[in-house]
Amino acid sequence: MQQRARFYPLGDGITLIDDAGESTCYVVEGPEKALIVDTLNGLEDLHALVRRVTDKPLVVFNTHGHCDHIYGNMFFDEAYLNRADWAIHDEFFADYENYVRSQPEGEAKRYALSLIESGKAKPCPLKDIQPGDTIDLGGRVLEAILVAGHTPGSLCLLDRQSRTLFTGDALCHQLWMQLDHSTSIRTLLESLNGLDPWRGEFDRMAMGHGIETTPASFIDQLKDCAEDLLRTGGKDDLPQAWFGGEGYRHMIDNEHWIFYTKDKL
Ligand SMILES: [Zn+2]
Repeated sequence: MQQRARFYPLGDGITLIDDAGESTCYVVEGPEKALIVDTLNGLEDLHALVRRVTDKPLVVFNTHGHCDHIYGNMFFDEAYLNRADWAIHDEFFADYENYVRSQPEGEAKRYALSLIESGKAKPCPLKDIQPGDTIDLGGRVLEAILVAGHTPGSLCLLDRQSRTLFTGDALCHQLWMQLDHSTSIRTLLESLNGLDPWRGEFDRMAMGHGIETTPASFIDQLKDCAEDLLRTGGKDDLPQAWFGGEGYRHMIDNEHWIFYTKDKL
């Protein structure tokens, strides 16, 4: 029984699926195929959930290699992921059982444990996708754009038909740049500037968390924040604990920031 997933139609053949407020995926329908952008946390059968939206053949794409975007790959035959994030993907998938055992008791946990016990909790084979590559859904063509930062291989997908950029965590409201495998802030800034050639082709961003899209102009706020961080060295930022240690928030406003460690400067 469905416990976690909530569906939100975004128009133009796009459906957002929110997984208990923890991460977000999207179904994009083309004339012949449907695309799944990210696969959530592997605690519900995402294939069955997607079948409520479309009966078309499915293409699966991961924006990056983090657990909350890839665990649901186990319900599919194959998934596209930039090779630069494959080691991250493998590391997280090896931790799936620990992740499941840390979940609160309930139906989702019982289901995930049954997947482990029956040997079904395995990653599907990955297919490499590189910046500039496209995914063709039968005339609706999406283009992969590299936004290295949050992870070195993070890819955004541009859907020109709906003027939407699917960003995963590469562009988001609380951008995590403190992870060991996150790039420097300078590389992030280069990635943000590198989006300029496409900026006229999308109006909104569909991110890896949350249930609403974000105006494309938010990229300028992220740029300003990254530039200011490099200029000031974050000298007024206060340390913040997170489960992996300690980092700093460089604020855009009360709800938006870049989270970083000093070695990224
Ligand atoms: Zn992530």
